[in-house]
Amino acid sequence: SAAQAQGKELVVATDTAFVPFEFKQGNTYTGFDVDLWAAIAKELNLKYKLQPMDFAGIIPGLQTKNIDAALAGITIRDDRKKVVDFSDPYYESGLSILVGEKNTDIKDAKSLAGKSVAVKTGTATVDFLKAQVPDAKLKLFPNIDNAYLELATGRVDAAVHDTPNVQYYANTAGKGRVKVVGSVKSGDFYGIAFPKGSDLVPQVNKALATLKSNGEYDKIYEKWFGKKP
Ligand code: GLN
Repeated sequence: SAAQAQGKELVVATDTAFVPFEFKQGNTYTGFDVDLWAAIAKELNLKYKLQPMDFAGIIPGLQTKNIDAALAGITIRDDRKKVVDFSDPYYESGLSILVGEKNTDIKDAKSLAGKSVAVKTGTATVDFLKAQVPDAKLKLFPNIDNAYLELATGRVDAAVHDTPNVQYYANTAGKGRVKVVGSVKSGDFYGIAFPKGSDLVPQVNKALATLKSNGEYDKIYEKWFGKKP
């Protein structure tokens, strides 16, 4: 029940590395998802501890109820809705291609055919590329930072991942070594995920609506992404 959720310390999973949504800074995790959840928890008076984990473990962890909620830039999809519940969407996203600074032959999804492409295990990108570019040679990494390193050191032709993460990396750690070719998919939405039937879903949706109407959501958004276009 709602009272139960308020009483116990919730286990809230995040990804280990998904800038700027969740990433380690010194000894603590920070990012858009981390701030958004802190604001929701304050609104609902929830106690919680963050549990960073590999993305691929999050949905299974929700299914076994080892986790009470998860924020990891999780794309809302019909197949996932069969096994977990989602909050209302909180961020619009998509997928983009990243290549080495000097690359000239990769221009779009089609041009990834026959190329080696670093991707992250268990993510929407893997399914997208398998369906759209079956000839691409996917190299899987549980942590996207290692996939980007593989690209920056010239061991793969490209990396594909969520657009905000690709752009953030290209403008920070990857600056001067990699460049964003462009978006290959848009219109994806992130949702907070819960075990099926969780009481938290309606409460969290209410808190999200409050944060959107009172300007708190926009403040957090601007902190991590700058002014909305
Ligand atoms: N949005 C991607 C997905 O849901 C994963 C994002 C991430 O790596 N955390 O598959």
